[in-house]
Amino acid sequence: MNKNITIAIDGFSSTGKSTIAKLLAKKYNYIYVDTGAMYRAVTLYAKNNNLVSDNFLDATTLISKLDAISLSFKFNKNLGFAEMYLNGKNVEKEIRTLAISKLVSKVSEISEVRKKLVKEQQQMRKNNGVVMDGRDIGTVVFPDAELKLFMTASANKRATRRYKELLERGDEVKFDEILFNVQERDRIDSTRKDSPLIKADDAIEFDNSDMGITEQFNRICTLVEAKIAN
Ligand code: C5P
Repeated sequence: MNKNITIAIDGFSSTGKSTIAKLLAKKYNYIYVDTGAMYRAVTLYAKNNNLVSDNFLDATTLISKLDAISLSFKFNKNLGFAEMYLNGKNVEKEIRTLAISKLVSKVSEISEVRKKLVKEQQQMRKNNGVVMDGRDIGTVVFPDAELKLFMTASANKRATRRYKELLERGDEVKFDEILFNVQERDRIDSTRKDSPLIKADDAIEFDNSDMGITEQFNRICTLVEAKIAN
C-alpha cells in the first residue's frame, strides 16, 4: 500500500526550493508549506510597527508582541498555491519585496520567533503528506522526514533568478543589490546560533546551477516514489 511521506526541502536563498515544492505538492496531492513566507510575514509585522529597519532591531518588543501575530495560509485556486495572511490580511505581495528580504534574516535569528513558527509548522503536518521548504526543516522541524533535499546553486545563478522574478513583478531593483542580498542572507542564515542553515546528514544535495527544472523534478520524483513504495 502506498503511504504518505514528509518531504523536507532546505537550502540557500533562491535555489528554486518553492518551485520544486509546489510541483511535488500538486503531483502527490500533498500540503505545501512555504516556511520562508512565515518568517517574512513576522518581519513585515515588525517593519510596520517600527521594530526593525536596516540598522535597528527591537527584539524585546517584538518578542512581547508575538502572541498578537496570527499567521495563516489560504489556498488560492487561481494561483494554485496558498497565500500568506498576517492577522487576516493577504500579505503575499508585500512579503516578497526586496525591503523585506533585507530585514528577514535579522528577524529570523531571534529564538523566540523561531520557537513560535517551528511549533506552528509542526502542527501543520496532520497525517503526513506534506512538503515543506525552508532552512531548518530537515534538521529541526521534521528531523524524522522520510525524504530530505538540500538545494544549492551558485550565488550568481540565484541572484539572476531572483532579479528576473522581481523585474517581472514590476519592482525597481538593481542586480548588484540582489546579489548582495542573496549572499548576505546566506551568511546570516548559515552562521546564526539557533537552527543555522546546514545540510542534514541524511539529506540529498542538489546543485541546480546547471540543471533545468524538469530534469531536477524528474530526479526528485524518482526519490519520492522510492520512499512512498518503501
Ligand atoms: O525561503 P525564503 O527565501 O523566502 O526565506 C526568507 C528568510 O526567512 C531566509 O533568508 C531566512 O532568514 C528565513 N527562514 C528561516 N527558516 C526557515 C525559512 C526561512 O530562518 N525555515
